[in-house]
Parts: sequence; C-alpha cells; structure tokens
Amino acid sequence: MQDAQPKTTYLKDYRVPDYLVDSTDLCFELEPKATLVKSRLKIRRNPEAEEGIPPLLLDGIDLELLSIAIDGTMLSPADYQELPQGLSIIVEKPDFLLEIHNRINPEDNTSLEGLYLSNGMYCTQCEAEGFRKITFYPDRPDVMSKFTTTIVAPIDHPVLLSNGNEVDRGYIEDGRQFVTWEDPFAKPAYLFALVAGDLQHVDDTFTTSSGREVKLQIFTEAKNIGKCDHAMRSLKSAMHWDEEVYGREYDLDIFMVVAVDHFNMGAMENKGLNIFNSACVLASPETATDSAFQRIESIVGHEYFHNWSGNRVTCRDWFQLSLKEGFTVFRDAEFSADLNSRAVKRIEDVTLLRTNQFAEDAGPMAHPIRPDSYMEISNFYTLTVYEKGAEVVRMIHTLLGADGFRKGSDLYFERHDGCAVTCEDFIVAMEDANQVDLTQFRRWYSQAGTPVLDVTDQFDESTGVYRFVIRQSCPPIPEQKDKLPFHIPLTVGLLDSTGSDIALDKAGSTQLVLEITESEQMFEFNGLNEKPLPSLLRSFSAPVKVRYDYSLEQLLFLMSHDSDTFNRWDASQRLAFKAMNLLQGAYQEGLTLKLSPELILAYRNILLDKELDPALVAEIMLLPSEHSIAEESVSIDAEAIVAARAFARKSLSCALIDELKERYAELDIERPYSPNAKDIAERRLKNICLEYLCITESADALDLAQRQFDSAGNMTDRAAALSALINYGNDQYAEQAIHQFYDRWKEDTQVTELWLAQQACSAKRGTLNNIKALMQHPAFELKNPNKVRAVIGGFANRNFQQFHKNDGSGFEFVADQVIALDKLNPQIASRVVIPITRWKKYQGDLADKMKAALLRVSNSGELSKDVYEVVSKSLMN
Ligand SMILES: [Zn+2]
Repeated sequence: MQDAQPKTTYLKDYRVPDYLVDSTDLCFELEPKATLVKSRLKIRRNPEAEEGIPPLLLDGIDLELLSIAIDGTMLSPADYQELPQGLSIIVEKPDFLLEIHNRINPEDNTSLEGLYLSNGMYCTQCEAEGFRKITFYPDRPDVMSKFTTTIVAPIDHPVLLSNGNEVDRGYIEDGRQFVTWEDPFAKPAYLFALVAGDLQHVDDTFTTSSGREVKLQIFTEAKNIGKCDHAMRSLKSAMHWDEEVYGREYDLDIFMVVAVDHFNMGAMENKGLNIFNSACVLASPETATDSAFQRIESIVGHEYFHNWSGNRVTCRDWFQLSLKEGFTVFRDAEFSADLNSRAVKRIEDVTLLRTNQFAEDAGPMAHPIRPDSYMEISNFYTLTVYEKGAEVVRMIHTLLGADGFRKGSDLYFERHDGCAVTCEDFIVAMEDANQVDLTQFRRWYSQAGTPVLDVTDQFDESTGVYRFVIRQSCPPIPEQKDKLPFHIPLTVGLLDSTGSDIALDKAGSTQLVLEITESEQMFEFNGLNEKPLPSLLRSFSAPVKVRYDYSLEQLLFLMSHDSDTFNRWDASQRLAFKAMNLLQGAYQEGLTLKLSPELILAYRNILLDKELDPALVAEIMLLPSEHSIAEESVSIDAEAIVAARAFARKSLSCALIDELKERYAELDIERPYSPNAKDIAERRLKNICLEYLCITESADALDLAQRQFDSAGNMTDRAAALSALINYGNDQYAEQAIHQFYDRWKEDTQVTELWLAQQACSAKRGTLNNIKALMQHPAFELKNPNKVRAVIGGFANRNFQQFHKNDGSGFEFVADQVIALDKLNPQIASRVVIPITRWKKYQGDLADKMKAALLRVSNSGELSKDVYEVVSKSLMN
C-alpha cells in the first residue's frame, strides 16, 4: 500500500478552492521517455475563499520538477515544499504568474492516466485525476481556466492536436515542428487533451441550426481509415438530435475524434477533441457486429452530448459525477431509442441494470448515485453512478413530462453555463422551471440500494372497486441501516379478461403514473366489471424490484397481451425465473429435471408469432443469463444455476427443432448489410435460432453453422457462427474455425479482440488451461485494457461455469491477474477484482474459496489505493 491506509475523501469536507487559475498556457516538447512540460499559470486568490494567506497547493504525481518561478523570479527549494503528491508554495501576493518546468515519461506510463504512448502515438486521459500526472496543477473540476497549448514534436508525428481551435503552426530550426491550440471556453483540467502521431483523418462538415459550419474530423492509423464512416454518421445524427430535442448547438469551429488502442474506458469527452477507445469508434460491416455498430452510435452520441452536459456545465467536485454522467447516459439512451427500436433499447438497458447494477447495490461497494466518500474516485465510475444515475434522471422526466423536463433542462443550461455545479443545482432548476417540490425525490441521490415494492391487490365485486396496496422497503447496507421512503413513479395499466387496456380515468387514459411516497400506500380504481390483471412498472418506470404474486397463467397472458412491449418481455422473464427456480430446486434434491409443457408451448407460440417484432422474440427466446439468475437468488448455488439453465435451453432446442429450422430459413435473407433496427432484429433472431439448433449438437445443425461461417457477408453472422462452433462443435469443428478466423483477421485489432473474447466466454472452450494459453498468444497483451477485458474479464464476468468451478481455480486465477495488473494499471486491476468481491452472496464452499483468493490479493504487498479500497471494503464485516 502507498500509506498504511489510503486517505478517504468526504463530500461533507468540500471547500471552495483558495486559488483560481484564469489562464493556463502549456508547452509540450514531446520525447518518449523525457517529455518537457512548461506551464504558465495566471493565478489569483479566490474572493470566495476564507480570509488569510493559505498556501498554494498543487497536485502532482510522478513528475520530475525542474524549476519554479513566480512573476519571473526563480524559487529556491527553500521557497516551497515538495509533498508526496504535489507542491505547497506560500505566496504573499493576491495574483501572480506561476511558471513551472517539469519532465514526464510517457513511454513508461502503463497506468494510461495522464500522457502516455499507444502504438507510438501520444495521447492523454485526464479524467478524473490524470492531469496531475502531466504537470503541477490544482487538479479539481471547480478550477476552470482558459487553456492555450503548444505541442513541439519531431516531424514523424505530423498530427499535433489539442482542445479548441488551431491558431498557429510552424517549423523550428532543429527540424521539429509546432502547433498551437487555443480553447476559448474555460474548462477544468480533466477536459484537457493532447494527441500526437502519424495519423490519417476523414473529414466532413455539419451546419448548425444557426447556420454555422463546423468541421468534423476523425483521426486514426492509416490502416483503419476505412472504418470511420459509421462513427461520422453517428456524430452528425447526434449533433442534429441535440439541436432538435434539447435546443443545444455545438460551439467551436471544429470537432475532432481520435481512435486509440490502449484506453482504460470507452471514450472521453475532452473539449473539441474526443479521444475514443478504437473499439468504440471503428467499424465496417466485415469487421464489426451489429452490437458494435449500436455501441458506437450510442458512445459517439454520449461523448458529443457531454459538450453541454459536462463541459459547458461541469461538476463542482467528483461526488457530483452523476450530474454529468447520469444525465448524459439518459440523453444517449433516448438518442438510441429515437433512432432504433425504443422497446429493445429499454430491454437491453434494464437487463444491464438488473444483472449488474442491482448486484452492485447488493454488494460491498454499494453507494448512492452521489457517493458520500471515496478513497479512489476511479472506483466510482460505476453502473450505479452512470446507469442508475440515468434512471433517476428518467424518473424526473416521467414525473415532469417531456415538456416540463425540457423547461427544466433549458433553465439548468442557461443558469449554469460556464460553471461547475452540483446535483442539487440540477434538481433546483427542474423544480424552479416547473414549480414542483422534489424534496423527497432527492433521497435517490443520497440513499443506496435497490428499493423493493411489494404489491397486493383486491377486487370488491359488489362495488366494482379495485385496490392496490403497495409497500416499499430498501435493504440496509453497512453505511445506511435505516432508509426513508423514496418518491417512486410507478407506471401501471390494467388489463381486462380479453387482454385490452381498461380506461383508468375520465379522460380514457390506459396507463397512469402512481406516485409512491409512503412506506405503505393504497390506490383505488372504480367502476370495474371484473377483477383486472395489473401490468406494473411499465417501461421500467423506476429502478426498483416489484414483487407481485403472478400465477403462471397470468404471466402467459401478459406475455401475449400486454400493450406495453417492455412488460411483455418482463412477463417472460418472470416466467423464466420461476422455471429456473423449480429446476434449481430439483437439481439440488437430485430429482429428474423437467420443463413444463405449458412453458414449452408458450415459447413455441412466441417463436412462431410473426406479428411480434423479431427483436422482442429474440430477447424472450434468449432466457435470462446465469448472472441474471444469480442476481435473483438469495444465496447463489452456481452449479445448480448452470445445470438449470443448460437443461432449459436443451429442452427447448429439442422440443422446438422444427420451428427453429423454419424461422432460421425464413430469416436467412441475402441482402447488403445495413445496421438498421429491422435488419439487426432479424439477424439477431436468426442467430439465436442457429444457437438453439446447435445446442442439440446434431451434425445437421453444425453443418449449418459451418456454412454460415464460411459464407457470411458480415461480421454479425460470421461471429455468431463462430460462437456456435466454439460452444457446441466437436474439437475438429471448433479448432478449425478458431484457426481460420484468426488467420483471416489477425491484422485487425477489433476482430482479434472479439476472437479472444469468444473463446474466453465459452463454457466449453474457455477452461482455465485454455485461458492461460490464450494469454500466451501473440494476440494478447496485458498492458492493453481491451485485451484484458476480452480474456480475463470475459472469463470472470461471462464464463459463469468455468469461473465458478468448485475447486476455486477460477478465483485463484483472477487473484493472480489482479496482483500482476495492479503494478501496471491500477484502474483496470480494480475492475478485474470485482467478481471475487461478491463472495458473501455465494453458498458455503465457493464463498470460502472466493474469500481466500481475495485475502491473498489483500496480503500480496503494496496495493494501489484503487485495489485496496475495493478489496478492503469487501473483506469488512
Ligand atoms: Zn460520460
């Protein structure tokens, strides 16, 4: 560990900065091992800070300090104090010019924070606290400054980029060149970016609604130049959408995107110069799957939308991260929903939330969307802050309606433009614009955990009155034992016995938003002729669990009649969970497993329902993943979950073999590739049919997979066939496909990552020995986060069966990797460790083995504070 125990930072200790930086003038002389950074900072005392002469505190990590001068006078070491992570300088003047020269080593920077090299290209990642690895600076988001950046580099790095607009360029006598960039908008240091390399670019333009022309550029290595079209299209759609839906126009003359291979996150919204993980920007039909196309559209949108929700209005401190992330994830989700299938987008987002965010809420790192404390802020870039944060914003949208929400967001942007603000400021803007009181709603920002709604109902035939009683509760977490009731918008509809929606008010509305605010509350509906069937939490109107005792028949009825598409799917999930529970029970008791004929019939009807969107059919046929089933369990029995799910899938595949063949043949349409919603849905259902057919391991089915593998016209179909061969083919089929695929695509980084992931995620091929062999393959690189996510992440997060082997070898392996990675890249190490931190939810032996692996990490010597925080919280009682 760095210290005996790393320091904890608390929200309640926030103080305004003592000093402000009006302008930041940077010059970089790039050298792989010794880059010189010269900074000139115009600093003044903050009039809002407390009286007195506080020391000027600058953050700085891994920097070689060369010189400091104030107003042109060099300081001697006696004039300042070097701290373990920065500098402290006493300055008597109220304003002054601070000049610092320091050196950094981008080549040896494997943490991928600050300035580093990726395949010979310089790039930066400064959020959250990476700028302090570049130079000494008050590295906090409430210090906003106007940046000017000059980059000096050898001529073999012809592209030199930074934030804002280019204002100067030229050659230096020693044969180097320089470019100067000026960003007219004040910004925090975390939005700073620099890129230098031998890059190509594709160009386009966008004319804003007020008629300004903006230059758009996407930069990448020459070999990838043909893979930028989809990202460019997505960018233009996003710019248009933000004008239409939020009235937000882009503000600079140029918007640049750069693709890099080594990147800790998906992408970063640096002002005017977005830096992307190449996996989140590069795509062509031959090399990218449908889901990659969709992910790119949504991430390009997300980063672009940050220009307003994040950059123009930014966060006061990192506890407010959800202010920009929750809001922006909500914005990108609506963008994707408007461009594609709204119901499918909702199903995908809710599946992620329920499977992974609910697990986070129930695990050792549970925290509210606005955390109260952290040791390492990088650990709080979580599904809770992002996805649940987006659900909280969505609930405000539901409560205020689209027009009210727009009024609120307009006021928020107008009132806080150019400022660093808090989640509270966002809510106040929503309240002020709509004259509503969201006092109780604010608890979503301060209370952690997933609320549960227990719903019971009753129908009085003599009066025609139907009543709901709803009780809300929220499981305690160590820091929060007693929680107060949340304000929950619960969208409901009622179905009559023909499956039609019943009018719920005089205006004839067929669904209502019930506002739950009490721990127990009753709602009444009058004038009904029969007991209705409730459709609860339509479109997943709140991030909660709803418990209502539906019978098998009622779920089957909702599955085929609910007018809310999301709830039709949700009924199928409830049904599947019920079936899995029964199968798990039978397995544990050593009984013969059996799937009920009613259930098989229901799946048959869904599969053959041509009226239903194929995307929805696909989502229903998939069955909940092992991780989803685990999340639903009180105590996880991994072996029983694997057995139950495998049995259910096998039973369906055997019972529906003719129907699966029929639908496969019907959907196997030859056509030019397009990533539109209809084609994606059809490909998805076709490939799920293929997978089910291959589960039978019949030669016919595997031949079909082989044919598709050989003749596919796009990566979606080819990858699906590869997956089928890897998971269900015999060694000969599988090995051959694995080799052929690699030989054909080994030059392509994104396809290679997919190839690695498919093997690592396979229950059959991804055994621990195979995983270890994959890590020796030339395609693997421990210093590259995408490869780590593909192989180690794929194994620990998506290979449920092999990871949970009874001998505990999967956990030991992950512990080894965490220990190795922590020396290279603490951010990635602390992500990789997560699956073994949830040991308390497992039954007996597995829990002990997981805990033992975790203890080994804990006792392995010096840990980064990233890993220390996660591991120590999970070992606490
Ligand atoms: Zn973001």
